[in-house]
Amino acid sequence: MSVVGFDLGFQSCYVAVARAGGIETVANEYSDRCTPSFVSFGPRNRSIGAAAKSQVVTNCKNTVQSFKQFHGRAFSDSYVQSAKSNLVYDLAQMPSGSTGIKVMYMEEERVFSIEQVTGMLLTKLKETAESALKKPVADCVISVPSYFTDAERRSVMDAAQIAGLNCLRLMNETTAVTLAYGIYKQDLPAPEEKPRIVVFVDLGHSGYQVSVCAFNKGKLKILATAFDSELGGKDFDDILVNHFCEEFGKKYKLDVKSKPRALVRLYQECEKLKKLMSANSSDLPLNIECFMNDIDVSSKLNRGQFEEMCAGLLAKVEGPLRSVMEQTKLKKEDIYAVEIVGGASRIPAIKERISKFFGKELSTTLNADEAVARGCALQCAILSPAFKVREFSITDVVPYSISLKWNSAAEEGLSDCEVFPKNHAAPFSKVLTFYRKEPFTLEAYYNSPKELPYPSATIGRFLIQNVVPQASGESAKVKVKVRVNVHGVFSVSSASLVEVLKTAEGEEPMETDQTPKEEEVDSHCLHHTVQYLPRLKSFSSLLFQTTTEDAKQEKKNDQPPQAKKPKVKTKTVELPIENNLDWQLSSEVLNMFVENEGKMIMQDKLEKERNDAKNNVEEYVYDMRDKLHGVLEKFVNEADRDTFSLKLEDTENWLYEDGEDQQKQVYIDKLAELKKMGQPIHERYMEAEERPKAFEDLGRQIQMYMKIIEAYKDEQYDHLDELEVTRVDKHVNDAMVWMNSKMNQQNSQDLTLDPVVKVEEIKAKTKEIYSACNPVVSKPKPKVEPPKEEKTENGPVNGQEGTENQPCNPDKAMPAGTEQETAENKLPEMDID
Ligand code: ATP
Ligand code: MG
Repeated sequence: MSVVGFDLGFQSCYVAVARAGGIETVANEYSDRCTPSFVSFGPRNRSIGAAAKSQVVTNCKNTVQSFKQFHGRAFSDSYVQSAKSNLVYDLAQMPSGSTGIKVMYMEEERVFSIEQVTGMLLTKLKETAESALKKPVADCVISVPSYFTDAERRSVMDAAQIAGLNCLRLMNETTAVTLAYGIYKQDLPAPEEKPRIVVFVDLGHSGYQVSVCAFNKGKLKILATAFDSELGGKDFDDILVNHFCEEFGKKYKLDVKSKPRALVRLYQECEKLKKLMSANSSDLPLNIECFMNDIDVSSKLNRGQFEEMCAGLLAKVEGPLRSVMEQTKLKKEDIYAVEIVGGASRIPAIKERISKFFGKELSTTLNADEAVARGCALQCAILSPAFKVREFSITDVVPYSISLKWNSAAEEGLSDCEVFPKNHAAPFSKVLTFYRKEPFTLEAYYNSPKELPYPSATIGRFLIQNVVPQASGESAKVKVKVRVNVHGVFSVSSASLVEVLKTAEGEEPMETDQTPKEEEVDSHCLHHTVQYLPRLKSFSSLLFQTTTEDAKQEKKNDQPPQAKKPKVKTKTVELPIENNLDWQLSSEVLNMFVENEGKMIMQDKLEKERNDAKNNVEEYVYDMRDKLHGVLEKFVNEADRDTFSLKLEDTENWLYEDGEDQQKQVYIDKLAELKKMGQPIHERYMEAEERPKAFEDLGRQIQMYMKIIEAYKDEQYDHLDELEVTRVDKHVNDAMVWMNSKMNQQNSQDLTLDPVVKVEEIKAKTKEIYSACNPVVSKPKPKVEPPKEEKTENGPVNGQEGTENQPCNPDKAMPAGTEQETAENKLPEMDID
């Protein structure tokens, strides 16, 4: 399985992977760890990430960004409608009523759902992970803002599926940051200390999220979260853009908002200016050449003026901070650290306000841009059996309280019940009991719509099917399991009917209560929280209240509804549940999107290959043109050079005309045609480059054997066979004659002609004399047993003094006799007592 974390940001994405060395943020094909959240559509392909961002001005209508905000939203949603007016690309309604984007793709108008667009971005991120890990990627953890509702989360899950990803967990961004921080501060707190409370602030492009976490060694528990989706980097950009639109309207009489291209450029420049103002408090210029109607515009701004303009936004910083403190009933002194991440957390005025609120220095332990991705990868590693992660567990919270409502016969109308209060531990399951005679519907909804940054409080309707009365005609007991799952999504995960088979005293259990009971609690969460209790009492009663209540309820509900317990034999039957979730894609539609994504990936791949083939032709033309008047000049006669030059020039022109847009094979054929002329010239050049060394090697080999032949009467070689030495002599002489003749012929021949001898032939000759001569001359001298004490010397053996005069195997390039020498050197050790 793959261990990958994706930070799916509003403006930019990061990919982190787990490898043997630990968690690592990996770079994309541009060697950049940041991949812009942009998708651009063209007549032949899509571009995603940096390649798409580079088209934001030139292809602005078909380059989409900031689409994360449309997940799980109706096209008619007022939020979508108001965002629409600020976009340079078009939105459209999907057949289901959800939001889609309208672009020109493959020369056709197309509408893609938001899930498809995010699916495209995830496809890119997946490729980045795959090229880093050098294996296919499917299992992963993906981040979402902690304030995302169920519909938004399910929409991101669908996008993951479209990209062929198996998302093991949708992780809240601040929770991912918490986990990344936990790994840095592994020993937080020291064993004898009470849990440490850390506040995390993530200020990204789209919003502001705050969470509070209790750290107790490897056990991390989120206590509360708060957010503001109207306070993010983009809101500062909007203020700057509006300011300059107004200024340029007055100064240059320009209606910037009427020209998408100009507006996009202004956004880019304002973002740059905003970043510069974080580092610099003096006046900074904003200049854009040929901005609109051929007019250059210029202006300036400084940090003080910017902060004044943004006073309203900056005033929003405190709200979520106050909210988490109130929710947890913590005091400022209880806070151990305040860790800030997210690009916009670099704005000095924001930092000042947060720091002032807590009365302490802010901490920046983590990489502000990469922490989310790293936390996600870490979570994936924890979930993966392939990695051993130090004991870490993290419990998240439910961001909005969730209630269920249903029609109740007994109460003659609607009943409801809060099943997961705000800040309840998550993931978490509860079992509710109903007494019913027929199928019934549970409707889940968020019960504090005012807190919701989303227009609809409804989560979904769940029809519990196949409910029938007991044989006696009484209502049947139906157990319904509700869950906030690992993705932070509410579901009715199972339902079962408890059939009463027989009662001992003939008593029938009576319908006594129609309100649901919470019978089961997630033991996993209980386990962690109970451990903190004694130490945390002084901080906050809220901290673990939910879980202790659940524990009580669990106990209470061990008792049946009756006062007197009859002996009851029961059988449990699983009941089918029909889910009716807002904006949930049907499996047919999802499958179609998966299939379409596959087709588009294939189309992009073909287009890339086509482009590569075209680039190869272009590169060859430029390369050859340079070389024909450079290194290759000597290796081609004038007539051929002129023909080839002309051919290259024609091809260059063709590339800009008829050859601009051709099939891949046309480019491949074109290159082959050019190479037919260029290759022989290039080969002659390469031969001439390598020939001297090949001759030199052969010459050296010949000389070495000659020396041995000369010295063969000496003591060193007197064991060699005379007949064999004569043969060696002949071989060596023949080789020398061959070499001299080839060298002479070659030297007297023009370089524009094919060489008389190829480098390969010279190398083969070198090998040939080695195999013929080496076995003869390297035959070891018969061993003379040296006296024992001399064996401890590591000196030369059998008169082989060094390797200077030894012929060299051209294959191995290892001095002959080395192996033997090593063996001999080992002897003393063996003899030691
Ligand atoms: P989100 O988390 O909302 O989905 P994101 O993860 O893409 O969005 P980040 O990458 O954390 O967002 O932050 C991007 C924002 O931070 C942009 O608005 C960018 O202009 C802003 N930003 C980055 N660096 C600076 C800086 N030095 N000063 C001011 N703002 C900055
Ligand atoms: Mg972010």
